[in-house]
Amino acid sequence: MRTLRGVAASPGTAIGTAYVYRPDVYDVPTGEATDPDKGIAQLAAALDAVAADLDDAAASATGAARDILDAQAAIARDPALRAAAEPAIRHRAQPARAILDAGERFARELEATGNDYLAARAPDVRHLCDLAARALAGAPPRTPPHAIAPCILIADDLTPADTIGLDPTLVRGIATSGGTRTSHTSVIARGLGIPAVVGVRGLLDSVEHGATVGIDSRIGQIVIDPSTEIVEQLTASGEAERVRHERLRAASGAGPTTTADGCRIEVAANVRGVEELRAALAEGAEAVGLLRTELLYIDRDRPPTQAEQEALLRGLHELLGRDRRLLVRTFDIGADKQVPFLPARPERNPELGVRGIRLARVHPDLLDTQLRAVAGTSSLGPTAVMAPMVATLEEVRWFVSRCRDAGIPSTVELGVMVEVPAMALMAAELAPLVDFVSIGTNDLTQYLCAADRRHAGLSALHDAFNPAVLRAIDLVCRGAGDTCWVGVCGEAASDPAWALLAIGLGVSELSMQGVAIPEVRAAIRAITREHCRDAARDAVLASDADTVRAIAQRLIKEQQ
Ligand code: PEP
Ligand code: MG
Repeated sequence: MRTLRGVAASPGTAIGTAYVYRPDVYDVPTGEATDPDKGIAQLAAALDAVAADLDDAAASATGAARDILDAQAAIARDPALRAAAEPAIRHRAQPARAILDAGERFARELEATGNDYLAARAPDVRHLCDLAARALAGAPPRTPPHAIAPCILIADDLTPADTIGLDPTLVRGIATSGGTRTSHTSVIARGLGIPAVVGVRGLLDSVEHGATVGIDSRIGQIVIDPSTEIVEQLTASGEAERVRHERLRAASGAGPTTTADGCRIEVAANVRGVEELRAALAEGAEAVGLLRTELLYIDRDRPPTQAEQEALLRGLHELLGRDRRLLVRTFDIGADKQVPFLPARPERNPELGVRGIRLARVHPDLLDTQLRAVAGTSSLGPTAVMAPMVATLEEVRWFVSRCRDAGIPSTVELGVMVEVPAMALMAAELAPLVDFVSIGTNDLTQYLCAADRRHAGLSALHDAFNPAVLRAIDLVCRGAGDTCWVGVCGEAASDPAWALLAIGLGVSELSMQGVAIPEVRAAIRAITREHCRDAARDAVLASDADTVRAIAQRLIKEQQ
């Protein structure tokens, strides 16, 4: 028996036979090409064909997979990518070699931006350049993994195209050596409800095709050739989880979420588009607590128009109806983040650079267009809008006045994210300026603990159970008092035990991935607010994350 550690990417446990997926290799032509003009034309034709195939695949996909395929098709059509390959072809490189090298450079630049969304596009670029190179080399298209029996899928990394056809009834778990919590494999595995652990070093060297592999994403662990005892444990907990989720999901649909003593807690969804919202509503989402709008902006050569943005918001309002709130976060992109239509300004520390509201202040016209789209659709249903990365009260005042100047009516709630620690410290002064604040624990933890949220080696430091994070949230809730409501939209909200502590501190709205909703709702309904308060009081006084975790888990256990 051997265990390997990685990053817990999609919740659950699984046990099964390893299906080790290695994409088929092909020979990239070498030597000098004779006709550069012909090579450039061949490359253009190959990329056009790749884009058309991706369009076709997107048309039959849904949810996150569809968004990803659409984005890939847009990159395949991006003139900048073609232009990057051309100089090498002019110097007589083979077109297949030229596009692979240009794609690799492009991908590395995206990874170096330090921005989650852009870095997550790097595999897209590599994948579509690989597709084009295969066509140019006369090689067959990459064959995606094809499970024909129940298995645990083991791979270096998976492209969206690899994951689209995955059948969750056969693929019981996924482990990859690449990837982070925010990479495609993780997003799609969560969407499909397949337990996954990513970023497992040495995975492919350790697992043989056909070996028995256990996945325990609760602790980010995979077990190779597990003992009979571990097999029994994982089998039993996997089955129990499946039954439980189905039961919770069935119960989740009914009515609002209140604690056992009648305190109303709104359980909302984090979404990027209509398909994700549809899935989240099926899990029992009561609202959208975070619409990440960045995807509208990246991979395109001009910013989205007001009409395009209104189309997205209208689609979301239509699904939400007249009673459920749509909370729009204004774009969280940055000048360092190579949005194609803004001049690139490399920064030494992009996470601490011009992102979110800071970028909006440099380009207020971009913000105004987005705010006008919010104003133009706000009569369709309850609406709220908030700005990311706010660090000063002056920025808050600026944002609020910009919203009003853009014609956003007073019926729309205005707020900001609390993800920069400075805002947590200033919460009492912040509260009278807004209708609500939403705590972004992903960034708040990153900045409080000075631990890069994407750094697999620092995941122990990037821990929302750190009592310092809870103290910051306590400050926010105390500062807000009855003046404005406090929500949480970071990943921590999807952990039921953590969520109960947040409620104990005074949080009244929790927004998360749709798949987490049934369990969080069930945990809330089974406990009193008073009980959460007692535990939260102990948690903020604790001296380390393990103690906080134990306090929170006790809350959950006591309900069972
Ligand atoms: C956060 O920082 O917690 C958050 C929700 O924003 P994002 O993950 O999009 O940075
Ligand atoms: Mg954030």
